[in-house]
Amino acid sequence: MVHLFFLTLACGTNDGASPVAQAPAVQETPVAYTVASNPKATEGLATADAADGVEDKVARKCAGCALGMDGDAAHAISVDGTTLHLCSSMCKEYYVKDVEGNLAGLVN
Ligand SMILES: [Zn+2]
Repeated sequence: MVHLFFLTLACGTNDGASPVAQAPAVQETPVAYTVASNPKATEGLATADAADGVEDKVARKCAGCALGMDGDAAHAISVDGTTLHLCSSMCKEYYVKDVEGNLAGLVN
């Protein structure tokens, strides 16, 4: 490991720049939101979590589709420690515009 790292460093040190310092963007860490100040949204969050049959802080049904279809871990956001799997990038884009309102809407 250390030896390999050293070789990698030695390859690009001539001009002082470090073109390999920035790794390619990987969307593994969901953007985190909080709705803790909104009881109704918090209830919606619990509803979303339970909708897949397991209360494990991972909502596998798409909250953006009123939990009517399966979400995808590739389009996840994090809300107060619960991970929400949205079904598509478009759904996620729409959802994050009003996370609190959308979650509250699940328990109307
Ligand atoms: Zn959706």
